[in-house]
Amino acid sequence: MIPKNILVTGGAGFLGSHLCDRLIEQGHEVICVDNFFSGSKRNVAHLIGHPRFELVRHDIVRPLFIEADQIYNLACPASPKAYQHNPIKTIKTSTVGMVNVLGLAKRCGARVLHTSTSEVYGDPEIHPQTEDYWGNVNPIGPRSCYDEGKRVAESLCMNYHLAHGLEVRIVRIFNTYGPRMHPDDGRVVSNFIMQALRGEDLTLYGDGDQTRSFCYVADLIDAFMRMMNQDEETGPVNIGNPTENTMKELAEAVIKVSGSNSGTTYLPLPEDDPKQRCPNIDMAKRVLDWQPKTNLETGLKHAVDYYRERMQKGEL
Ligand code: NAD
Ligand code: UDP
Repeated sequence: MIPKNILVTGGAGFLGSHLCDRLIEQGHEVICVDNFFSGSKRNVAHLIGHPRFELVRHDIVRPLFIEADQIYNLACPASPKAYQHNPIKTIKTSTVGMVNVLGLAKRCGARVLHTSTSEVYGDPEIHPQTEDYWGNVNPIGPRSCYDEGKRVAESLCMNYHLAHGLEVRIVRIFNTYGPRMHPDDGRVVSNFIMQALRGEDLTLYGDGDQTRSFCYVADLIDAFMRMMNQDEETGPVNIGNPTENTMKELAEAVIKVSGSNSGTTYLPLPEDDPKQRCPNIDMAKRVLDWQPKTNLETGLKHAVDYYRERMQKGEL
């Protein structure tokens, strides 16, 4: 393996920090760019001082002047609570920020892996979702700053590829969980674990029968790197775990794994909350020879251990 200069935007976030770890382990030079909106220095604190790691505070909505062979573009708040905090900024990150990243890649001749999302499918009318499904997105709803921003970002990637021959790789990520997910970001796995560890009732929105498919972070990062380093497929390629669970089942699993005495309580379903979500990962299996290896119970155990340790240290 030849060491490369690799830029990770959003590298201090949940997924980005795990990616930086893996790239450093493999011997690459890693530049992590982040504005710390939803990520934190704590996620990469163990890498600071490493001779091949550099942390840069920068907002990708402004142009960047960095040299890189490969770019993983992860910068964008990912949880509904975070991306709805400042919706216009969220759109700017996925549009203006994306143009800046693609412009940088064009200047350097770098390959870009862009992290899109299952949210481009909106509230899907076909199930499970395949990459050729165009989606059912409300363009003016509360999620649109994220969904539509990500749809524009995919379009920008494809147009830079077609117009300038830029090498792009697009992954559509389905719900992912694991250590370093922000404890208060409102996503279901971190909410449930924090509630279970605090002995509070787990909050099920709606009737709790809506489904998601949860992929453990280590499996996802493996897929990112396979996607970046193959020469056949531009994507988009779905990356996620095809095992579908209702939120009720997830709540039961979290209570079991954490050994908590918590019960459950019901709250209203947020507007535009998709009823079902499950990836078809045939393309990832075929092109990347990839499928998730970690089952929900094992992954939840790692996540519970992480939050429990931080609580014991008094950080949460
Ligand atoms: P995260 O919020 O933990 O990480 C995003 C990082 O980007 C944060 O560190 C944040 O501070 C940074 N950031 C945001 N706006 C920025 C900007 N304008 N300039 C520079 N940095 C900026 O979220 P995550 O779960 O690690 O998600 C990473 C990427 O993967 C996102 O693009 C997200 O849309 C995508 N994704 C994640 C999931 C998931 O389940 N985690 C699912 C689908 C897609
Ligand atoms: N959810 C829930 N309780 C919570 C947080 C979320 O029941 O405390 C539900 C939410 O309504 C959605 C699912 O869990 O149906 C996944 O929500 P999340 O925000 O994690 O991801 P997304 O909706 O973006 O897939």
